[in-house]
Amino acid sequence: MTAATPAAAQDTPGWTLVIHGGAGVIERERMTPEREKAARAGLNAALDAGQAVLAKGGNAIDAVEAAVRVLEDDPAFNAGRGAVFTYEGTNELDASIMDGSTRAAGAVAGVTRTKNPITLARRVMEDSPHVLLAGKGADAFSREKGLEQVDPSWFATPERRQQLEKMKAQSLSAFDVDMKYGTVGAVARDAAGHVAAATSTGGMTGKRWGRVGDSPLIGAGTYADDRACAVSATGSGEFFIREGVAHEICARVRFKGETLKQAGDIVMAETKDLGGTGGVILTGPTGEMAWSFNTAGMYRGHASAGGTRVVAIYGDEK
Ligand code: ASP
Repeated sequence: MTAATPAAAQDTPGWTLVIHGGAGVIERERMTPEREKAARAGLNAALDAGQAVLAKGGNAIDAVEAAVRVLEDDPAFNAGRGAVFTYEGTNELDASIMDGSTRAAGAVAGVTRTKNPITLARRVMEDSPHVLLAGKGADAFSREKGLEQVDPSWFATPERRQQLEKMKAQSLSAFDVDMKYGTVGAVARDAAGHVAAATSTGGMTGKRWGRVGDSPLIGAGTYADDRACAVSATGSGEFFIREGVAHEICARVRFKGETLKQAGDIVMAETKDLGGTGGVILTGPTGEMAWSFNTAGMYRGHASAGGTRVVAIYGDEK
C-alpha cells in the first residue's frame, strides 16, 4: 500500500485506473502533515482496491465501484463518511456510475442512509429501469434492495460540522468554503478495453433546498463511453452542469479526435470561463490516462498494469 506497490506477478496487462478525491485550494501552506498523510493513504488504499480487481482481469465497472467505496468509507473525503453538511445540518449524498461498454448508467441524489451510495447507484443501473433516483424514493429503493443502512450520524464528522458553522458565522456562500478535499471519483479501463466511471459526493457545504450538483448527473459529473473515454469530475457543480463537462470531453475526443489531455484542458478552461473551478480524471479505451484541473491542487492517483503508481495532491507534482 505504498507509492511503489509492485504489480503482482500474475498482473493482467492493459489496465488503467485513475482516481480523485476532490480539487480546490489545496496548497502546502494550508496543509497539515497529518491531513496530507491521511489523504495520500486514502488514495493509495483506493488504488489498491481498484487494482485488485483489474490486475486479476476484472471489469472496469467493478474496479471503479471498489475504489470509490474505499473513499466513501474514508472520513478524509467528502463522500459517504466525512460528507459535508447541508444548511440544516444533515448529510445528503449523491453518486453516479456508468459502464462504457453498454452506456448503462445509474445515479442517486440526496440519499441519507445508504453506507455506500456508489453501490446504490450501481443497483439503480442494474436492478431498475431508471437512471436517477432522488431523496426518499432512493432511500426506499436502497432498503428494498437490502443495501447496508447506517444511522445518519455515521456520515457526520466534527470537522465538517465546523465548516458549516464557520460558513454560517461568516455568511459565506457554498462556493467559498472547503473546495479542498471533496468529492471522490474513479475511471478505469480494463484488460478487455472497456471503460467505466464513478463519482460520489456529499455536495457542497451549506447546500439547501434539495440542491443537487453535477456528481450524480450523467454527462456532467460522470460519463463513460467505450468509443471515447471515461470521465469523473469534481468542482463547483453548477458550472460543470452548465458546461456538460463529462459528456463534452467525450464528445470532443470522439468527434474531433482530440487526446484526452487536450479535450480535458479545453473543457476545464471553458468551465473556468463560466466561473467554475475544479478538475477531471480521464481514461480511454486504449488505456491512455489524463487529468486536468484549474485549481491549485487535486487529490489524485493513477495505477496501471506493470506497476506504475502515482499519488499526488499539489498542482506542481507530476
Ligand atoms: N461537484 C460537487 C458538487 O457540486 C462538489 C465537489 O466536487 O467538491 O456537488
